[in-house]
Amino acid sequence: MSPAQALAATATPRDGTLEVLRERGQREVFCGLTGIVWLHRKMQDAFFLVVGSRTCAHLLQSAAGVMIFAEPRFATAIIEERDLAGMADCHAELDRVVDRLLARRPEIRTLFLVGSCPSEVIKLDLANAAQRIGARHLKGENGASNSEGVRILAYSGSGIETTFTEGEDACLTTLVPEMAAEMPDAPLSLLMVGTLPDIVEDQFLRLFAELGITNVGVLPARRAGALPAVGPNTRYLLAQPFLGETARALEDRGAVRIDAPFPFGADGTAAWLSAAAATFGIDEMHLNRVIAPGRERAKRALERYRPALEGKRITFLPDSQLEIPLARFLATELGMIPVEVGTPYLHRAHLAADLARLPEGTRISEGQDVERQLDRVRADRPDLTVCGLGLANPLEAEGLSTKWSIELVFSPVHGFDQAGDLAELFARPLRRRDVLRI
Ligand code: SF4
Repeated sequence: MSPAQALAATATPRDGTLEVLRERGQREVFCGLTGIVWLHRKMQDAFFLVVGSRTCAHLLQSAAGVMIFAEPRFATAIIEERDLAGMADCHAELDRVVDRLLARRPEIRTLFLVGSCPSEVIKLDLANAAQRIGARHLKGENGASNSEGVRILAYSGSGIETTFTEGEDACLTTLVPEMAAEMPDAPLSLLMVGTLPDIVEDQFLRLFAELGITNVGVLPARRAGALPAVGPNTRYLLAQPFLGETARALEDRGAVRIDAPFPFGADGTAAWLSAAAATFGIDEMHLNRVIAPGRERAKRALERYRPALEGKRITFLPDSQLEIPLARFLATELGMIPVEVGTPYLHRAHLAADLARLPEGTRISEGQDVERQLDRVRADRPDLTVCGLGLANPLEAEGLSTKWSIELVFSPVHGFDQAGDLAELFARPLRRRDVLRI
């Protein structure tokens, strides 16, 4: 039995008529600027210039921290009140800021102009600004020879429309048109899509190499020059479930998605690798040989957490968009009982494999009406509620154990060797609750 079949066999399949509770009310989520925290670490010659307010600058500094010895690769160009009143020429000021930045930091190869709530309120068109500044620098005007080869792109990280992981989706979407077209006779290639910590990315690349899949690209690439080519012979595998727009842009370039559950836990990772292997015609015995050691390590690591987690009821409030695959992992690999699984947006196609494996009767909600949702949490009283920072303290005060969902995005949690750490993130708050009760 292949890993994918094994995973399917452990789950209760749903029929095609998935019932989803849709809510459109007040939301409690971080904005897309948060993604800069992990994106700037990944793309080592990129710089993120937020065009925003002091609030945006504070959010970034407190979320990402700034080391005093290192030159940070993100900053905020602050829009002052007089700019908001339309009294200053924001475009001229932005040009000056970018010129100064590129003159001081010749190592920058990709500059992202990142929009925010204030820049959207005053309708500052950063896409046009990126084109204008990029063209001017390429022409060598303004004495900007140091910026040769700098790619200037723009996306929005505003909190008006987004939840925090959409910042990465918007960022990667801007990179897709920059990818070269693959040669017409190019062999089949694999594109792994989504930001992963380097250590996890390297583990996956090693496994693909051992499987015999050698033509592998990664989006985002660590360096601007390593951006892979794309085209009809590209098969892409999502590593993160919040990349709907990036996926659409890749498909517009001809790439084809490999359908798979997301690589969380022993079985989820095995099924994800197995889907790639099937696409590339890898022999099933060879696949099982390659993944068996990692899968066994992951299973052993998970077994340690089963006593603490099995039978415990868990609710996810909509925040990171990782909720559905994580609920699948906890239910099928650790025996937890998902009560409600909320997600800001439900991409049915990308999440189909994980949705199908959720236990029958799991309440799935999309969007948020925070007061109503909190009422449901109070009525359900799950053992653990995964939610944003702003909701965790009030719920703890009501005697409910919580887990910050943002920690799941900041921590290495994908793949075989992180399966135990992922389980630990859910076991720890339950342990703390038990200790406090004694
Ligand atoms: S982008 Fe909007 S929500 Fe995010 S920090 Fe700036 S003002 Fe706040």
